Amino acid sequence: MENNLTLYNSLSRTKELFKPLHEGHVGMYVCGPTVYGDAHLGHARPAITFDILFRYLRHLGYKVRYVRNITDVGHLEHDADEGEDKICKKARLEQLEPMEVVQYYLNRYHHDMELLNVLPPSIEPHASGHIIEQIEYIKKILDAGFAYESNGSVYFDVEKYNRSNNYGKLSGRNIEDLLNTTRQLDGQEEKRNPLDFALWKKASPEHIMHWPSPWSEGFPGWHLECSTMGTKYLGETFDIHGGGLDLMFPHHECEIAQSVAAQGHEAVRYWLHNNMITINGKKMGKSYGNFITLEQFYEGSHPLLVQAYSPMTIRFFILQAQYRSTVDFSNEALQAAEKALLKITEGYNRLQKLSPAEKSSVELPDFRKACYEAMDDDLNTPMVIAQLFEACKYINQAADGKITLSTADLESLRQLFDVFLVDLLGIRVGIEGEDSKAMGAFEGAVDLLMEIRANAKANKDWSTSDLIRDKLAALGFSVKDTKNGVEWSVK
Ligand code: ZN
Repeated sequence: MENNLTLYNSLSRTKELFKPLHEGHVGMYVCGPTVYGDAHLGHARPAITFDILFRYLRHLGYKVRYVRNITDVGHLEHDADEGEDKICKKARLEQLEPMEVVQYYLNRYHHDMELLNVLPPSIEPHASGHIIEQIEYIKKILDAGFAYESNGSVYFDVEKYNRSNNYGKLSGRNIEDLLNTTRQLDGQEEKRNPLDFALWKKASPEHIMHWPSPWSEGFPGWHLECSTMGTKYLGETFDIHGGGLDLMFPHHECEIAQSVAAQGHEAVRYWLHNNMITINGKKMGKSYGNFITLEQFYEGSHPLLVQAYSPMTIRFFILQAQYRSTVDFSNEALQAAEKALLKITEGYNRLQKLSPAEKSSVELPDFRKACYEAMDDDLNTPMVIAQLFEACKYINQAADGKITLSTADLESLRQLFDVFLVDLLGIRVGIEGEDSKAMGAFEGAVDLLMEIRANAKANKDWSTSDLIRDKLAALGFSVKDTKNGVEWSVK
């Protein structure tokens, strides 16, 4: 299978023509959410970025196995403020089982993702369901001599690993600099070196989530779950590993070290990282009070928001930037995205209603080719959007009777929007399910009013035609007489 998809590989720092390991198949692993709180804008970006890649690879004809893990074993401790694992803390405060906390937030995460039209991954493994595999993985690293046991915990020996390998190769960091900047952590006395990271942690008495192991009753380290579940479901070597840029160091760096230590070679062929979202130019952080959850966006219920924003506006806003560039949230930027999205969906809707002419009065540019080239160029979604806007110009001109378009040209425009706007960018344009029935009836009723108005005009019954026009305008409808008949929309 041939493709022209070029991806930026964080490891080689170059754009490379994507060639999967196994003909026709792609294995893709993306670091998934931690489930102790609601998803916020920062969660939306990796989910949408890798959703685009997932959709495009499938569109190119690959069978994609997309694995996205659920981080739920309660190892998110050493939180600078609390020093207590976040799932456990929530469970203790709300008198819940830790797994109730996990399930509650996981359900909400899935709901948020569904609203954003993010497709579910092929497998969504829980770290808590793979304790045995993680213990086996630790044994391999111990056997290879790259880890040591200390007081019931097991640590990865970074310094020893770095003697024969390059720890820091992904993020381009230098281990000497790292040693100088690493701050002192709790339990550090157990480690030989502050950079060493836990593969297994002995649970303290207040730690609720723990499992038996050869070393202690405890829990696995965070970096380990991704190495373990990635290779379990995708093989010792697999094609793509993605995640946010904030995970590059130390998380993904540690994953590389673990694979090399346990398997003797790296597991991942292409590393992809999406850049971060800032809010009004600031990093998102607890101390800034700018963690806006997706639900707060949908409801407009955060003090920083001047209005509510629909999930599709959020999705479109994120796709207006290429995934490796930063995105700065502001109300102005989201309002601009909302307007732009409305323009594009209006174009889509007008396109559905256009009737063909015998032949086109203009020659359409090759939009499809330009869109494929943009997608192949490291998923350049802003370029795809620019092409769709360009296509909208022709649609609007045709709807206004300024140009004519043939059946073939209309068909190619419809395909363009169906493939790139709906299937690949994943923008929901219509209304689905039960709502679509109601919408169909509603549209039928408005069309009927338009017919009565047209008849009234034909009969010079101005009072009836004006009444319909004015009442509809008062209700927020815009009614336009065009060459192709009457066009209405709700503003
Ligand atoms: Zn991960």
